[in-house]
This record gives sequence, structure tokens and C-alpha cells, in this order.
Amino acid sequence: SGFVVGLTGGIGSGKTTVANEFQRLGAGLVDADVIAREVVAKGSPALAQISAHFGPKVVDTTGELDRAALRALVFGNESERQWLNQLLHPLIRQQMIEQSHNQQAPYTILVVPLLIENQLQQLCQRIVVVDVPQSIQVERTVNRDQVSTEAAWAIIQRQASRWQRIRAADHIINNHRPFELVAKDVLHLHRHFLEFATQSYS
Ligand code: ATP
Repeated sequence: SGFVVGLTGGIGSGKTTVANEFQRLGAGLVDADVIAREVVAKGSPALAQISAHFGPKVVDTTGELDRAALRALVFGNESERQWLNQLLHPLIRQQMIEQSHNQQAPYTILVVPLLIENQLQQLCQRIVVVDVPQSIQVERTVNRDQVSTEAAWAIIQRQASRWQRIRAADHIINNHRPFELVAKDVLHLHRHFLEFATQSYS
């Protein structure tokens, strides 16, 4: 289906939790994080280009990308970071479009953590933002990832602000509530998207 709903939110906001509920109800699901790994999978053309550019040390003995090694080479090096983004972003964008349109479901939820930051709004007909206060993002991230409070705050500071996301949203899901209530909102939105998709995109 050509009806694509972008789903975004800050770190630890609950994107995965909410997206899984849409999928359970019958939406197609495409995840930008999964695609970002697929485009540099073992044996991929992009991985060969990365290895040619940065040297063979960015590929481990099994032929997989050594993310830590690549991160170390790019860290604090703006031109290398740009080189890498200019290689990967178009590939990721193309895959997001292809996979979204190849879904058999009546509509697709496209999960993109950095939708606003990377200006990918044009890829979707609607934008859903999963919203919680920043203090809750920190609390949930610390509990889930065993990272420090400071590290979680630092990531939040680098991402789009809560208000930038809300400004871009067509629908906001308040995820600072028990999941049963959140799931009711998801069900209502799902019915709305289904109706719209079958009217306009089937
Ligand atoms: P990231 O971008 O960091 O991968 P995310 O936005 O996908 O995160 P989730 O992994 O879905 O977020 O949720 C973050 C944590 O918060 C998880 O441990 C999840 O179980 C928990 N969580 C999600 N929604 C709720 C909720 N409504 N109430 C309580 N905990 C929740």
C-alpha cells in the first residue's frame, strides 16, 4: 500500500512498544534502524565502500562491520561523518521507500527515530509522534539500557526537541500512561488509518 504513516519519538519514548501494537492490529511495519543495519550487512556494496575508504580494520574477521571501530574513526571528525552519511542516507532512504511500498498490509507504519532530524517527513502521508516528558525518557532509557542518567540526557540534548517533534505531528500519542490506555489510542488511530487507506490508497 502507498499509505505510509511515519512514527517517531525521542530515545526511550516508546516507539517500538507503540509500533508493535500497530503491527499486532494489522499494519505493515518498517523500521529504519533495521534498514540501517541491512544496508551495511556482510557482503553489501556499502560495506565494501566503507572498507575501501576507512581501511580493512572496520571489517571484523567474520566479514561483518565493526561498528565500534567505525564509530571511533568517525567520532569528532566532521568530514568523515559527512562522507559516511552521504553514502548511507540515500541508501537507507531508498530502502525505506521500497519496503514501505512493498508491504501487503493496508497501510505501513514506518518507524524512524530521527525522522525530524534527518528531514524525512516527505516519505510519509501522516506523522505520529510518541510523546513523554523528557524525565520519563531518561527514566525508561536508564532502566532499559543500563546507561547513566547523564548519558541519557546527553542523547536527548542531541536529538530534536519535544516541541520540534510535536510541531511536525499529525497525531500525538501520550505514552506517559498505562499501556492499556495507550493501546486504546492506537486502536482508534488504526481504524482511522484503515478507513483512510482503503478509501484513498487501495
Ligand atoms: P529507543 O529509541 O531508545 O530504541 P523506543 O522509543 O523504541 O526507544 P521502547 O523501547 O518502546 O522505546 O520503550 C522504552 C522503554 O519504556 C521500554 O523498556 C518499554 O518497555 C518501556 N515502556 C514503553 N511504553 C511504556 C508505558 N506506557 N509504560 C511504562 N513503560 C513503558
